[in-house]
Amino acid sequence: MKPDELRRRLEFYQDIGMTTVYRRPAAGQAVETKAVETIAAADAGASPVAAVDQPTVSLPPLAPAGDTLPRIQEDIGDCHRCRLHEGRNKIVFGVGNEHAPLVFVGEGPGADEDAQGIPFVGRAGQLLTQMIEGTAKKEGIALRREDVYICNVVKCRPPGNRTPEPDEMEICGQFLYRQLSAIAPKAICALGGTAARALTGRKEGVTKMRGRWLEWRNIPVMVSYHPSYLLRPYNQDAKREAWEDLKKVLHFVYD
Ligand code: URA
Repeated sequence: MKPDELRRRLEFYQDIGMTTVYRRPAAGQAVETKAVETIAAADAGASPVAAVDQPTVSLPPLAPAGDTLPRIQEDIGDCHRCRLHEGRNKIVFGVGNEHAPLVFVGEGPGADEDAQGIPFVGRAGQLLTQMIEGTAKKEGIALRREDVYICNVVKCRPPGNRTPEPDEMEICGQFLYRQLSAIAPKAICALGGTAARALTGRKEGVTKMRGRWLEWRNIPVMVSYHPSYLLRPYNQDAKREAWEDLKKVLHFVYD
């Protein structure tokens, strides 16, 4: 692989919040190398593969030209790429308008989503739908849930709704990357800290990031609270803040 190709691939991993790449074990042993160091080697024109003295690096491809959501879904197939496939019922790919100017990204499917194969259909999903449609209406914007696109960082339900592990997000991140590249929205709304960190590569908690415009590959990302957090009765302030975040993103996209 040429240094420039490798650099672009590693930049893609950084974009999805990944800072470490794992290479196939050469002799039964996993070898780990830092993406940033390897990017620097590629920038310097050195062959990073030679620099770490390892055989072929097997990395997933970048978004193919003319990529579409059906093609991405077909490529996911009956995915067994990570351990999350073991407990899932349905892969939750994403739902909504393929040409949506606004994409909401959550963390991972819960029980209801896993049963139906559709993101954000449980209690948190109903709140999200209400927030999107209710806020839009109040702000004089004609918008229904089906006009936006909704997906998650990981497509299979983590057992017991735990936070997805870094390697699960890395593996599934290639599909989120391709979904976002294919849709090319005007803005993205990251729901909760996990989605925000995966998209932006930042390490802060959601309270520090929310309400701010960050970026995913030059696309503005508004970070807000995850709707599950807003369902807790003592989070009234967070609810008010989440409505403010949503107003900001809706006016940015639809005005
Ligand atoms: N929480 C998420 O992050 N995503 C869903 O699809 C449902 C709940």
